[in-house]
Amino acid sequence: MKFLPNYVFIEPGAENYELGKKLIREFEAFGIPINKLKSFNRLDEVKKSPNEFYAFSKRSLVIGIKKSMKLECCKPSADYQFSLVTGCPGSCEYCYLQTNQSFKPFIRIYVNIDEILENVDKYINMAKPKITTFEIASASDPIAVEHITGSVKKTIEFFSSKEFGRLRLVTKYSNIDNLLNINHNNHTKIRFSINSKFIIKNFEHNTDTIEDRIKASSLIYNAGYPLGFIIAPIMYYENWEEEYDKLFKTLKDKIPNTDLSPLSFELIQYRFTAKAKNVILQRFPNTKLNMEEENRIKKWGPYGIYKYIYPKDISEKLKSGITNMIYKYFPNSNIEYFT
Ligand code: SF4
Repeated sequence: MKFLPNYVFIEPGAENYELGKKLIREFEAFGIPINKLKSFNRLDEVKKSPNEFYAFSKRSLVIGIKKSMKLECCKPSADYQFSLVTGCPGSCEYCYLQTNQSFKPFIRIYVNIDEILENVDKYINMAKPKITTFEIASASDPIAVEHITGSVKKTIEFFSSKEFGRLRLVTKYSNIDNLLNINHNNHTKIRFSINSKFIIKNFEHNTDTIEDRIKASSLIYNAGYPLGFIIAPIMYYENWEEEYDKLFKTLKDKIPNTDLSPLSFELIQYRFTAKAKNVILQRFPNTKLNMEEENRIKKWGPYGIYKYIYPKDISEKLKSGITNMIYKYFPNSNIEYFT
């Protein structure tokens, strides 16, 4: 899927950057008008109801400038996170961005990529000779707009020359063509978020199909990148075993030989918070997400709020079922965690 916005906005000063100029040229060539914003990171002038604003935002792209250069920690995935983009054209019903970026669900592309990478370099240099890892998909899915920005390619090339820096990203999209023939030097790990047909069909709107994701992952593997998969959220429903088994079998068919470089898997069960449930029900009133608190147990989360997770017997079933399937098809793989 190649996302193209219906509405484009530009923040003051973004037109002075090389990427800003390129984006203006390209959107004008597509006949998409560029609206000038008076301030940063706001679309307040667009007056709509909350649900209309959400739908509008998912079709809107802001060409912006990253101001704050203080990087946040990103444990356990990486030491730090930074963003080339925030927001995502996808509308996954369970996405944590539904609550995290609840009031700013539009896609914002940062054009000051050289400044962003210079800042990353400072963090790498401060910690060396320790290797510092960075995640770029914590506040967005940067591959969703890579065909527009080319920023992931530039970032991978930057990291390829960094002895003490490593990059990680995760995606539900397949716009990876421009990443295949570049020098990555094994310094970037790409993970694909995959799931059963039931989950993708019902909850992952406006993302790429599982076939496209798996095809893209095999191209990435053959291009020599370290490759991993995130299965999230894992859900317990009728036919879950059959459907997940089919998923891993399809993956095995497309990536039959992993002797040279084992795959990694990260496994995350479905969970929700009271705040997320409210936002989801407002945005997706007919959702099929099972959010019955009475069938869950409460767990205190790292961000100071309770989350509702599966009870232990279901969680154990999911853990052993999925783990066995992965080792059946990929005996040399590395399951990094199940949570
Ligand atoms: S693709 Fe990822 S970032 Fe985008 S809406 Fe879905 S879960 Fe969220």
